[in-house]
Amino acid sequence: MSPADPLLRATALQKSFGSNQVLKSIDLSIDSGLVVALVGPSGSGKTTVLRCLNGLETPDGGTVAFRGGPALDFGPKVSKKDALSLRDRSAMVFQTYNLFPHMTVLENVVEGPVQVQKQPRREAIANAERLLARVGLADKRDDHPFNLSGGQQQRVGIVRALALQPDLLLFDEPTSALDPELVGEVLTVIKELAEEDWTMVIVTHELAFAREVADEVVFMDDGVVVEHGHPDQVLRNPRHERTRRFVDRLL
Ligand code: ADP
Repeated sequence: MSPADPLLRATALQKSFGSNQVLKSIDLSIDSGLVVALVGPSGSGKTTVLRCLNGLETPDGGTVAFRGGPALDFGPKVSKKDALSLRDRSAMVFQTYNLFPHMTVLENVVEGPVQVQKQPRREAIANAERLLARVGLADKRDDHPFNLSGGQQQRVGIVRALALQPDLLLFDEPTSALDPELVGEVLTVIKELAEEDWTMVIVTHELAFAREVADEVVFMDDGVVVEHGHPDQVLRNPRHERTRRFVDRLL
């Protein structure tokens, strides 16, 4: 792919769990530097899309290509190792943080860079300290996750993803497990990243937030992408009845 190509292009992605066909045929193209909000009813397959892009699930069919890399064809011959290779390009921020409870904040952040990416430990620690300071958590580096609020844990989750220096950040409903008063501190960090040219896909139910930070909105329903466009178009003036019903309920 050339520099003018999107950072990520997925075509005809399919995924079933048993007889439940969760992704029917997903086409998705993400341009570099853009923030894309992925919205849709519960169970429409949004999380599964992120997990397929991050190698946490292996699609049953379709292709995924990151700019500068091979187009992975998830035909019958694809291996789990191929799917896992996608993890070099993206990093995930989970709904329930998924921090290692037995490790300190700093150890959580340096684990991936040191163990997986083989970064020198000293360099990984310096980078982690810089990132923790950025999100206001420098003084928490030696604490364990259970001593932190949900908002603080999620900020560590974001720092852990950033420390991997991925091309693409994937957020899976990053604020939905938080008490309402803690949502703002996490959204503020995400907004700051959006202003810094990070490429991000954010699964969210916060449509007001999506309208504020996203460059594009993708609406999914029942395993397909129904609409993909500018937030004003998709959220204020949807072309499809299914999108209209969804936004009317939530906005
Ligand atoms: P969304 O993020 O839009 O709520 P999901 O991708 O989480 O949707 O789930 C879509 C469907 O796939 C749901 O019916 C869910 O129960 C099913 N599903 C997701 N992950 C699994 C899994 N690991 N095993 C079985 N079913 C799953």
